[in-house]
Amino acid sequence: MAKPTLDVPDGESETARDDRARLPVLLTLPFPGPLDYLAPPPPETPPPGQLVRVPLGRREEIGCVWDRDSTVPADFAPPPESPVASARLRAVRGALDLPPLPVTLRRFIDWLAAYTLTPPGLVLAMALRAAGTEPRKPALGWVRGSADTASLRMTPARLRVLAALGNAPHGTADLAAASGASPAVIRAMADAGLLEAAPIPAETPFATLDPDFHRVTLSEEQDHAAETLRAAVRARAYSATLLEGVTGSGKTEVYLEAVAEALRLGRQVLVLLPEIALSAQWTERFARRFGAQAAIWHSALGSKRRKITWRAVLDGQARVVVGARSALFLPFPDLGLCIVDEEHDTAFKQEDGVTYHGRDMAVLRARIAGAPVVLVSATPSLETLANVEAGRYGHLTLAARHGAATLPDVALIDMRAHPPERGLFLSPLLAEAMEERFARGEQVMLFLNRRGYAPLTLCRACGFRMECPNCTAWLVEHRARKELACHHCGHTEPIPPCCPHCGADSSLVPIGPGIERIFEECRARFPEARLLVMASDTLGSPQATADAVRRISHREVDLIIGTQIVAKGWHFPHLTLVGVVDADLGLGGGDLRAAERTVQLLHQVAGRAGRADAPGTVLLQSYVGEHPVMQALVSGDYRAFMAQEAAQRRPGFWPPYGRLAALIVSANTAEAADALAHAIGAHAPHLPGVEILGPAPAPLALLRGRHRRRLLLRAPRAIALQPILRHWLAGLRLGAQERVEIDIDPVSFL
Ligand code: ADP
Ligand code: ZN
Repeated sequence: MAKPTLDVPDGESETARDDRARLPVLLTLPFPGPLDYLAPPPPETPPPGQLVRVPLGRREEIGCVWDRDSTVPADFAPPPESPVASARLRAVRGALDLPPLPVTLRRFIDWLAAYTLTPPGLVLAMALRAAGTEPRKPALGWVRGSADTASLRMTPARLRVLAALGNAPHGTADLAAASGASPAVIRAMADAGLLEAAPIPAETPFATLDPDFHRVTLSEEQDHAAETLRAAVRARAYSATLLEGVTGSGKTEVYLEAVAEALRLGRQVLVLLPEIALSAQWTERFARRFGAQAAIWHSALGSKRRKITWRAVLDGQARVVVGARSALFLPFPDLGLCIVDEEHDTAFKQEDGVTYHGRDMAVLRARIAGAPVVLVSATPSLETLANVEAGRYGHLTLAARHGAATLPDVALIDMRAHPPERGLFLSPLLAEAMEERFARGEQVMLFLNRRGYAPLTLCRACGFRMECPNCTAWLVEHRARKELACHHCGHTEPIPPCCPHCGADSSLVPIGPGIERIFEECRARFPEARLLVMASDTLGSPQATADAVRRISHREVDLIIGTQIVAKGWHFPHLTLVGVVDADLGLGGGDLRAAERTVQLLHQVAGRAGRADAPGTVLLQSYVGEHPVMQALVSGDYRAFMAQEAAQRRPGFWPPYGRLAALIVSANTAEAADALAHAIGAHAPHLPGVEILGPAPAPLALLRGRHRRRLLLRAPRAIALQPILRHWLAGLRLGAQERVEIDIDPVSFL
């Protein structure tokens, strides 16, 4: 990794002030740690956490006054920089008009940076992305001035303005609208002393939440779980608990009781969801329980809203935040509870930029804040189950589905015995079952985790496959958009009229189905049914998703065809049949967690069926019915399956029984990538218990035009990988076109 060099210019006036204190300031730049500046003399010395303006070279930067931390283990953290001589320190220019960042956030930044081998300044940058660090100018409005009306000419317009004044100051535009007078009239009145400027109090957009607004009567089992979590909140100490229960067992209802308890204690709560598309339905339900909305946090939020929310979290005004993993970096001064819903979901892993696992970092955040964390799932990850088994996490289970709802029946359709007709993808058995539901006025969902029309386009004449020019990947046909697209880099091209390789005319054929193709098949086969396609590219916004969900709930739709977006915790009460078009899809790819992930995903899809009083059925189309994954799904015995998974991973120290880190080496040519990967491999450490796998070409050997090689570092749990990696890569100098990315606890192996 290239080390950034510091440009500290000589001979500025702000030198030679040894008598004043050094102030470490963390900048939002990839330095190994904070830089020292000269502190303003007391009482102006800014406290740790204060955001300040400091000079850097010719620029001015925003930084955060830092405190050297003793809780981060020394061998995790980078070696201290050789200190700049005090005589050459430059002075802090000023402080921003914001409360200091809480100490728990600062320690979280230190820890996350050390754990992921990221320069801490880049982690700070994530925390400040929405801070609104420019000075806030309070908006000014008008109140009654001291001038006497008797001594002035009072036109009707002026009188209307005075009549429109309220107790709180009104802005010029508001006042003009309310009175019908022009802004010029208002300004003239101010000049005459009839009006006086006053700051408008900041908007307070987060209404008070009432912990007892609408309570439901919990079942005995639910109540026991809720009371355990309430006690954990009252303990005001770190604890981690897995809340496990099938879909519909009332997990959400139970953890909202813990939220209520935190509200009673006046503390803040963070709820992480894997998918922002879920937030609309979640917040609606939240509002029914607490009488007002939670603050929402995700990347699709407008920048103004982000700033208001960030500030309200720091002020303690926003009590409950529901959001995507980036909400972990919000400046909660008083976090009293953290919840990770659908904790097993791999969407919690951030793969771009700073790579971190949102679930694991939520546990860290809670630990630092001294607050309980609750991990919620119907199909917990093996990581979390191992933590339960080791006694590190508590465990609460909800066995029964609430009310009359029963678990769906899961059955296999053996595609070898009941194949679809040529060119089609639904077995006659599945089609018949769908027909039956439609006849009864019930809803059906077909699940296929593949966007587009066909995953592969092939020339019938020469066998040529349409590939992405920038990636090791096939181009996916999107028939509705009349193009071929790469799902890795976004490359698109029109569907060519003849084969680009042999020139044969009309010889290109789509191979395999995507959901557009299933849609086509269903439209032809069930012409009466009202169809809806749900995929990330057809449901762009949380609003569009909410609208689709509403249409399903109101029975305006008979058949839903969707990708994994439909698997997430929706409640569809009239849905009684789920068909999984290709249950084998997730099993390939040689991914460590492929089987686990397939079971989790399909289990969750199955959970959509039979939510209310109508029992549901799930039909899995598979060519490998004897596979342990299919057997686990049919028997519904998730635990037995996970025990098998554990038995397979334990001996080789695969996660969660060992530690894993990936190095992704990339360059602009294949030769350069190979050379760099081999150079790194040649310097690999030889340590007992530590194993280096690779270098090997990544499955996506070419991605966005970059050639990629992978190495894996594997060790037993007792060995921390960070110091090993630091030492290994410390001497590395990279060329301009070379890159090494480190992925601690990798989830994707592409
Ligand atoms: P999960 O989170 O486990 O999927 P939910 O908490 O969403 O389960 O509960 C499923 C449905 O049952 C929801 O509509 C919820 O409001 C309802 N429900 C669960 N427990 C109760 C209860 N004790 N009283 C009333 N409704 C309940
Ligand atoms: Zn591509």
